[in-house]
Amino acid sequence: MIIDFHTHYTLGEVFVKKQYDADKVISEMEANSIVSQLLLPLDGLVFDYKEDNNRIMELVQTYPQRFVGMGTVHPRRPKEAVEEMDRCLQSAGMIGMKFHPWLQAFSPLEDYFQSLAEEANLRKTLFFFHDGTPPYTEPFQIAEVARANPDLTVVMGHSGLNDLWRESLLAARKYDNIWLCLCSCPYSGMLEIAQTLGGERTIWGSDYPLATARDTRDRIRQVEMLTVSDRVKEDILYHNALKLITRFHPAFHSAKGKGPS
Ligand SMILES: [Zn+2]
Repeated sequence: MIIDFHTHYTLGEVFVKKQYDADKVISEMEANSIVSQLLLPLDGLVFDYKEDNNRIMELVQTYPQRFVGMGTVHPRRPKEAVEEMDRCLQSAGMIGMKFHPWLQAFSPLEDYFQSLAEEANLRKTLFFFHDGTPPYTEPFQIAEVARANPDLTVVMGHSGLNDLWRESLLAARKYDNIWLCLCSCPYSGMLEIAQTLGGERTIWGSDYPLATARDTRDRIRQVEMLTVSDRVKEDILYHNALKLITRFHPAFHSAKGKGPS
């Protein structure tokens, strides 16, 4: 069984030019032995985030074993950002907030974001970041948020991508509230992360539907081919994600898988 900790809801406007179809998504999940997904915003990172947050909340409530979700806010309006963060976090199955500082055009080190992170730290919640693309999503810019807010869990959604996975790994070794999501990270980076952290605080994601169902299968195979123990692979593909989700949503139960792995 697999939990995909990096997928997007899409309205077909930003990057992905197709409408979201939950039945199709679930059948493609089943084909890849994926029992549950974390659903992140995409169009809401650029257009109306409240509308996107509402749609994700609705999907999560309609399919509570298939999906958990995250909302987003534009952090430049601090009062509105905190109110919307609270609205998201109070909605069943919403386990944190997603940020894409590169697309949303802010630095995680700017004052208004730091103050939002402090509020999130008080709530002991989770921030999920796009990472790996300068100038605003370098691992140590994000790591600073984790350092300053030790009760906030910080997920690096791409483990630094091609160029910056080494920095992501260094950051995760330095701060134990950082988790790394192996998503669009090169095989060599995935291997070094898995071996160095021994499977701790490491999860897997596909970036579906930016990755097709077939890409998703290939990305699962990459984890299965890592030269680490089966226990580490199972932790990365399922158990760690379940542990992280239930930390923020104790009533969560993943759907049951049909196939092997
Ligand atoms: Zn993504």
